[in-house]
Amino acid sequence: MQVTETTFDINKIRADFPVLDQKVNGKQLVYFDNAATTQKPKAVIEAIKTYYEGYNANIHRGLHTLAEKATTAFEETRKTFQQFVNANEVEEIIFTKGTTDSINLVAHAYGRKFFKSGDEILISGMEHHSNIVPWQLLCEATGAQLKVIPVKEDGSISLADVEDLITDKTKLVSVVYASNSLGTINPVKEIAALAHKADAVMMVDGAQAASHCNVDVQDLDCDFFATSGHKMYGPTGTGILYGKRALLEAMTPYQGGGEMIKNVSFEETTYNDIPYKFEAGTPNIADIVALKEAADYISALGKDNIMVYEQELTKHAHQVMAEVPGIKFYGTAEEKVSVVSFTLETVHPYDVGMMLDAKGIAVRTGHHCTQPLMDHFGIEGTIRASFSVYNTKEEITQLAEGLKDIVSKFG
Ligand code: PMP
Repeated sequence: MQVTETTFDINKIRADFPVLDQKVNGKQLVYFDNAATTQKPKAVIEAIKTYYEGYNANIHRGLHTLAEKATTAFEETRKTFQQFVNANEVEEIIFTKGTTDSINLVAHAYGRKFFKSGDEILISGMEHHSNIVPWQLLCEATGAQLKVIPVKEDGSISLADVEDLITDKTKLVSVVYASNSLGTINPVKEIAALAHKADAVMMVDGAQAASHCNVDVQDLDCDFFATSGHKMYGPTGTGILYGKRALLEAMTPYQGGGEMIKNVSFEETTYNDIPYKFEAGTPNIADIVALKEAADYISALGKDNIMVYEQELTKHAHQVMAEVPGIKFYGTAEEKVSVVSFTLETVHPYDVGMMLDAKGIAVRTGHHCTQPLMDHFGIEGTIRASFSVYNTKEEITQLAEGLKDIVSKFG
C-alpha cells in the first residue's frame, strides 16, 4: 500500500532525541545539519551504555558468557542490516567504519585485483570526495581512467549521458544514490542495468539514502552498496558494505590481521570466509551493537512514512524559502531527499551560517566535500539545510524568517 500521509507523533519522536532539548546561543536549537550527521535516539545511546555496563567483551573468539553475548549482539546487527537493505544473504553484509571506508575497501580489494591500464571507472559529477578520491588512487595505481557523468542545471544526471559514457572499457560505475549537496535522487537501478549490459559492476554510495529512502539492494541489482551508520541515527564510526557474494569471494582482503584468517603459518595464510575476511582486527563492537537500534528505529517509524514526511518538509522549505530576497536554490530535480542547498545573492555562505547559529539554527556551509560539483556551478559553496524525521515545518519557517532578517540587515 502506498503511503500518502504520515501519522507521526512529532512530539514523541522529538522526545526520543535528548540533544534536541537544549538552547544554543539562548535560542531553542533547530538542527538542520542532518546530512552531515543525524542526532541519536535514546535507544541507540542506551544500547552503548548497556553494552559497556553489561557485557563488554571481545567477540568471535571467546567461549565465556560475556564474549558469547557480545558476539550474538554484534551478529544480530548484521542480520538486521541484511533485512534493512534486503540483501540475499547475511554474509553479504560487511561492517566498516562508514561509507568512506566501504568505498576504499572496494577500490582496494576489488579494483586493485581486477583493474588494469586502460580500464574505465565511471562516476557522476555530483559525487562526494569519498566516491572520487579512492578511484583516483586506484587509477594512479593501475593506470585505469576516471570518467564523469555531467550534472545538469537542476542537479540531475541523464541516463542518455550514462549510456553514452559506458564503453566496453568500463569496469565499474559508482554513483551516489542521493546527493548530499543537492538532494538529487539518482536513477541508480537504471544505471546498474546499463552498467551490467556492458559487464561493468555497479557501486552505489548510499550514505544519504539509508535514512531517507527504502533501499533494496536486490531490486537495485547493485553489486556494492555503501552506507554510514551515523547518518541514519546510529553511532559514528560504523557503516556497512553490501556486496554480492560472488564478488566478495573473488576479492582479496586489503587489511590483514586477526579475525580475517582461517590459518596462518609463515609459509602460507588462508583467509576466513566472507564477511569476516574483510573485518580484520577487533571491530567497533559497542557502536555496531547499537547500530541495530538505529535501523530498528527507522523500521518502526516506517521508511515510507519517513519519506512522505520528509517530502512534506522539503516542499514546505522550497515554498517558504523562495520568499527570501536573492535566494538561489541548487538542486531542484523532481526526485530529491530532504536537502535544500542555496546561496544568497548579497551574503556570503559562511556569514549566513554564523548568523543562523546566533539564532540557534544549525546549518552547514561550504563545498560539502563536493568541490568538483561546486566548480561546475561556479560557486565556492552553498548553505545547506537538511531535514530529518524530528524536524518540523515550524522550524523551517523559522529558518526562512531568519534568512529574511539576515538579508534585510546585512544584505
Ligand atoms: N557520500 C556521501 C553522499 C556523503 O554524504 C558522505 C558524508 N557526508 C560520504 C559519502 C562519506 O561518509 P562518511 O564520512 O560517513 O564515511
